[in-house]
This record gives sequence, C-alpha cells and structure tokens, in this order.
Amino acid sequence: MSMNQIDVVVSGACGRMGQEVVKTVLAQPDMALAGTIDASFAGSDIGAVTGNEPIGVQVTDASKMAQTLVALKPDVMVDFTTPAAAMSNVLTALKAGVIPVVGTTGFKDEDLDEVRRVCEETDGTALIIPNFAIGAVLLMKFAAEAARYLPYVEIIELHHDKKLDAPSGTAIKTAQWIAKSRSETPVARDSEEKVAGVRGGEAYGIHIHSVRLPGLVAHQEVLFGGLGQVLTLRHDSIDRQSFMPGVVLAVHKARECHGLVYGLENLL
Ligand code: NAP
Repeated sequence: MSMNQIDVVVSGACGRMGQEVVKTVLAQPDMALAGTIDASFAGSDIGAVTGNEPIGVQVTDASKMAQTLVALKPDVMVDFTTPAAAMSNVLTALKAGVIPVVGTTGFKDEDLDEVRRVCEETDGTALIIPNFAIGAVLLMKFAAEAARYLPYVEIIELHHDKKLDAPSGTAIKTAQWIAKSRSETPVARDSEEKVAGVRGGEAYGIHIHSVRLPGLVAHQEVLFGGLGQVLTLRHDSIDRQSFMPGVVLAVHKARECHGLVYGLENLL
C-alpha cells in the first residue's frame, strides 16, 4: 500500500449513486475500495451487487457503521444514502476520525452548523457537496452573476420520481447564492393560489418549483425576467456519471481540507 493511496469506504454503496461511486473508486489507480456499507444487501459481495464479478469486498450493514470505520480505518467515507441517514453518518465518520465526503442532500442550515461544530471538536474535516456536477456549479455561478442585473427570478428543478427530498439541495443553494448577490429584492406580487402550492415553495425569498417524473435524472432551470426579456439558464445531468469527476476530485482533495467544506466550488 503506497503512502498516496486513498482508502475509501462507500456508504449507500448499493444505491443508484453508490454503485456508480463503487465502480469509479475501483477504476482509480490511487484509490482502494476499503469497504462498503448499506442498509440492504449486508453480506453480499459488492461486485455482484453492481452486476459485475465478485471482488471480495462485502457489504456491511448500516447499523455497524461505527465499528466498520474503526476496524477499516479508511481515509474517506463517500456517502450517498438518504436525507434521514446522512447527518448521523457524518457524525459517526467524524467521531471515527474518517473524512465524510457527502453527496446526500437534505442538510438544513442547522445541520451544517452542527457539522461545523463537531469538525472543530474532533479537529476533523467534512465535505458536503449538494451537487458534484461541474455544469451545475457553473449554473449557480452564472445565476448569481445574472441576478446582479436581473433580480426577478424563479427556479425550476426537475428530478427522477424516486428522489426523497424536495426541493433539491442544488436549488436551495442556487437560491442562497442569488439572494446574496442580487442588488435588490423585488417585492413579490401576491396572486391568489386557486390550487394550494401552485406558485411553488420559497427559499431565501425565491420561488422554487420541484418537478418529479420517471425518466428524469437531475435538471435545473433558472429563469430571470426583465423588461421585455427573459433569460433562461439550464443544466441537465442526463447520466449519473456526470457526478463522478466531482466525486473523484473531492476524494483527492479531502485530506488537504480542514473543517466543513460545503459545495464543490470550494474545491475548484
Ligand atoms: P438510493 O438509490 O435510494 O440509494 C441510497 C442507498 O443508501 C440505498 O441503497 C439505501 O438502502 C442506503 N441506505 C439507507 N440508509 C442508510 C444508512 N443509514 N447507511 C448506509 N446506507 C443507507 O438513492 P440515490 O439516488 O443513490 O441518491 C442518494 C442521495 O444522493 C440522495 O440524497 C440524492 O439526492 C443524492 N444525490 C446527490 C448528488 C450530488 O451530486 N451531490 C447527485 C445525485 C444524487 P435502502 O434502499 O435499503 O434504504
């Protein structure tokens, strides 16, 4: 084992994103798949779970995460699980001295504050990345730029129908960036909702509309309205592979980081 090898445990390894991460880690010359954790498939070989040859790495049950991390001592735990599980997984990793690299969404501001606090307490590092796709990060940057000139804006995010949380972490983050950068906050004109919720939800004073349909992966549009004009910015993740270069980058940079890193833009 070379000094530069990064030992990675994948949490949520049997899920849609987790399986993609397992294949990606196995393909990296400087990474080793130290272990896999999931709420299902305990005892199965992860190679077989992903539809390939067995590779001799078994899935450990999620209830044994703490013991597994202490026993395997990986450098990093990549987590793509569920909004309900992710916070406790992050704390478990930090307490085991492992850097969580988290793609799971649904973290609230209070959760991030707590992760920040536990990082300080444990002298640890946590990377929480609501969107690993470079195109989505660029969309947020361009949206923040456009909002300086076009303060009237609404966000439409579209995802596959198995997504557990709404709106997406990316939509919340986009709203936060826009709110920070726009020079004026337009006064919303109240229109009576004949159907409850039809104008969408609101985060940081910006309307967000969440669409859920089979066939979709992860998509976002940001619409800006101005005098006699509309500017639409759109990003589409048409395959889960779109997230993998970002995951590889985050795993590579994790050991150089300190404290909570929230968002891929801080690693570019
Ligand atoms: P998924 O297919 O449902 O996979 C989640 C996996 O985690 C399942 O196998 C689940 O097992 C397992 N799991 C549940 N609780 C667990 C726990 N406590 N510990 C370990 N594993 C546990 O979901 P997905 O589509 O892969 O998405 C996962 C998350 O990633 C979602 O929050 C999604 O929004 C997010 N996401 C983020 C990005 C990004 O760029 N940051 C991109 C895409 C998706 P069971 O099936 O038995 O519950």
